[in-house]
Amino acid sequence: MAELIVQEVAKSYPTRAEPLSVLRGVSLRLAAGENMAILGPSGCGKSTLLHIIGTLDTPTSGRVSLDGADPFTFDEPRLAAFRNHKIGFIFQDHHLLAQCSVLENVLLPTLADGAPPDAAVERARVLLNRVGLAHRLEHLPAELSGGERQRTAIARALVNRPELLLADEPTGNLDRHTAATVSRLLLELQAQEQTMLLVVTHSLELAGMLQRRLELNDGQLA
Ligand code: ADP
Ligand code: MG
Repeated sequence: MAELIVQEVAKSYPTRAEPLSVLRGVSLRLAAGENMAILGPSGCGKSTLLHIIGTLDTPTSGRVSLDGADPFTFDEPRLAAFRNHKIGFIFQDHHLLAQCSVLENVLLPTLADGAPPDAAVERARVLLNRVGLAHRLEHLPAELSGGERQRTAIARALVNRPELLLADEPTGNLDRHTAATVSRLLLELQAQEQTMLLVVTHSLELAGMLQRRLELNDGQLA
């Protein structure tokens, strides 16, 4: 069964003065079907932690293991393939490509190995139907509301059947009502797909919907 293990991860950034120590020994575990919120004020290191777990950044020390593999031992092509297949990302700002349609945006993660196979197109359609956008497949991101863009981003994050979903302030740009709708949808899909879900947020409403809540404070989780 898929599992995420984060052990004593530390991260410091070099500065002209002393190194800035952002994470000071963060450990957590997550198994398939589980979800967790990490709360904390702006600047406490939430995005840094999520980027490290998502293999977009490297820790200064400590270990990350996903599905039994240590991605930081991989070379760049292998790491890119690992990330693409095992991890789905949802950001505060949807990060959709402006010139691509909704359907094309959802298919982007499936293009790493060439043209999308028919099965991927079918999967993208099913997901877009599931998030309520079946009638918007050919629309451009600029033609969608903020909530619809985030729903597209959720479908894109799931298209490759990742084991781990990482969401960084996924409702941060949405009004309260839309945020609640998108949060519910995210959790429904996570349960349905039985992925792991790690959400960093300072929204207590969103965090309150998750199974576990940890607070990142002074570089450590409590
Ligand atoms: P959060 O997501 O909780 O708001 P971040 O993880 O973005 O916080 O940032 C945590 C701290 O690390 C901040 O003080 C930020 O300025 C610093 N930081 C982030 N990235 C870098 C970087 N590349 N170089 C130096 N400092 C950074
Ligand atoms: Mg952040």
